[in-house]
Amino acid sequence: MNKNNKGVKNALYYILVILAMVMVVYFLFGDNRSSSSDIEYSTFTEQLEDGKVKNFTIQPAGGVYRITGEYKESQKVENSGGLSIIGSTDSNTTRFTTIALPNDSTLDQITSSASDQNVKADVAEESSSGMWVTLLVSFLPILIMIFFFYMIMGQQGGGGGGNGRVMNFGKSKAKEADKKANRVRFSDVAGAEEEKQELVEVVEFLKDPRRFVELGARIPAGVLLEGPPGTGKTLLAKAVAGEAGVPFYSISGSDFVEMFVGVGASRVRDLFETAKKNAPAIIFIDEIDAVGRQRGAGMGGGHDEREQTLNQLLVEMDGFGGNEGVIVIAATNRSDVLDPALLRPGRFDRQILVGRPDVKGREAILRVHSRNKPLADDVDLKVVAQQTPGFAGADLENVLNEAALVAARRNKKKIDASDVDEAEDRVIAGPAKKDRVISERERKMVAYHEAGHTIIGMVLNRARVVHKVTIIPRGRAGGYMIALPKEDQMLMTKDDMFEQIVGLLGGRTAEEIIFNVQSTGASNDFEQATGLARSMVTEYGMSDKLGPVQYEGNHQVFVGRDYGQTKAYSEQVAFEIDEEVRKILMDAHDKAHEIIESHREQHALIAEMLLKYETLDAKAIKSLFEDGKMPENDSLYPSEKADATTFEEAKRALEQKDAEKQASDEKPAGPIEPDDTSDDQQ
Ligand code: ADP
Ligand code: MG
Ligand code: ZN
Repeated sequence: MNKNNKGVKNALYYILVILAMVMVVYFLFGDNRSSSSDIEYSTFTEQLEDGKVKNFTIQPAGGVYRITGEYKESQKVENSGGLSIIGSTDSNTTRFTTIALPNDSTLDQITSSASDQNVKADVAEESSSGMWVTLLVSFLPILIMIFFFYMIMGQQGGGGGGNGRVMNFGKSKAKEADKKANRVRFSDVAGAEEEKQELVEVVEFLKDPRRFVELGARIPAGVLLEGPPGTGKTLLAKAVAGEAGVPFYSISGSDFVEMFVGVGASRVRDLFETAKKNAPAIIFIDEIDAVGRQRGAGMGGGHDEREQTLNQLLVEMDGFGGNEGVIVIAATNRSDVLDPALLRPGRFDRQILVGRPDVKGREAILRVHSRNKPLADDVDLKVVAQQTPGFAGADLENVLNEAALVAARRNKKKIDASDVDEAEDRVIAGPAKKDRVISERERKMVAYHEAGHTIIGMVLNRARVVHKVTIIPRGRAGGYMIALPKEDQMLMTKDDMFEQIVGLLGGRTAEEIIFNVQSTGASNDFEQATGLARSMVTEYGMSDKLGPVQYEGNHQVFVGRDYGQTKAYSEQVAFEIDEEVRKILMDAHDKAHEIIESHREQHALIAEMLLKYETLDAKAIKSLFEDGKMPENDSLYPSEKADATTFEEAKRALEQKDAEKQASDEKPAGPIEPDDTSDDQQ
């Protein structure tokens, strides 16, 4: 950032110098006629014929004739010189200048008039000063270019290290954080315990790459951190470098896409070269979506420069033999727009979702950022955390910072609860944050809605297991539940599909039972449920009434075709399909109602625990559902401690998890498909 600014400043400085030079040249040679006045050629011929002119000289100048001369008596003229800074008022003058076209008839006319009036006419040869001016003017741009080029070359040759003063085209602008200066540790990143555990391995590798290489392990070349802004992705990457004690080269995707074609690609090359030279090292590419968007997705011809850069990035990552000791960490807030090539094995094949923190996470983050701030005794960070659902780490840091500012303004020695209150209001009032504030009632609705999905998922567990439920907003969804298939399942039976529909309707049904309202939050559930029911009837022949006939399905090949024609069935059948779909949905709704009514206690318990912890994992849900209480001595749900774990702690937690997994080694969980999200809430 700094360097960049300096470059711009320098360029500006040079441009000013050059402008000044041009002005000087212009004043010296160009418009040196302050004592004479410019007149029109026609005025000149008139005055010549009227006998006002005493003498004149004709001089060829750059393709025209310049005529300068003297009047017999001084003339009053309105001065309207081109660049006349001095005296643009009326003045008396005895001299004049004009310009005539260089053809014979002009000359004839002038000389004949002159001899008629007995005016002395001279002809002079082209002035050399005029030539100089012309030459200078035509060569000036070239001179300027050479001047610039010279400076750039000089910088690259002499600088070497890459601390150029003007611009540094081919060199990557990556900033290297000094190994010793990078004091960010795992314990500075709070509320991201799972994310940290996933990065433990990366740190271990960077600390001692040989150990892994000897075992023939292929270490991921790239790790992609995905999450909303301000959730600590950059911080996490830095912490990995800090823990491993390796250099950290960071560059933003938008830095690659700049100015000149080919620069991006050469920057990538340079960046990787530097990192390899200093291996083990971390390359951090922020906003990778700026370069990594799907190729050919751009409008009209695409974006060549970006594609070249992306290709170079892919080439470099493929070039890793796996033991270079360089790991690329990239961050984005949307991986869906990324080119699929980036996500292939050997590239960013490890993806870590960095989500917004839950209550406990928020408390831990607040604790991290209040380390250097004196808090009064009445500030309870736990309460602050409860009051700020939906806030990301950066927002929380902002809250504490604002609180300190407020306290300072009020001349206090310590930050007290009222300051924090006001700071929360300020941060919430920020225009961008409006959508993140959730009223208490809404939060409760979301919790009971999600608990509804969860209860049904627990009861109807033929094909899927509840994996996680949360009321932390994601995108437009106020909360969501994730259910994963029990095993790799290629086929779904009619009952499986029906169960899934019941589950989808569970959220709304719970709202109806508990609050006796119907909210818009369930619209996406309905969309999915209706889609499923419809395909049961029209695609899979699962309706007894309509029989095993495929009415609709995989014939959307002719997209442009008139829709009216694609219907391969009569109005009567269309009516029956709608009836069947409705019947399935009504049945499912009844079933959901029945299940929730008969599990009211567990439902309320899960909802209340959701309000308290915001996220529940499979273990907690199972324990709540079966035993009616939270799992005991689980590190994830401690009643007291809410601190950021250190690297050692994260490592131990990971080992403990591993041990647990090995102990209860049933079947490995099926692959996690992103579209297994069975719900959402707006
Ligand atoms: P991102 O890169 O995801 O947009 P950053 O890492 O730049 O977010 O976070 C911005 C700032 O917010 C950090 O410098 C840090 O002060 C604070 N922050 C964000 N997340 C956390 C976290 N999990 N723990 C502690 N501080 C955090
Ligand atoms: Mg960032
Ligand atoms: Zn829902």
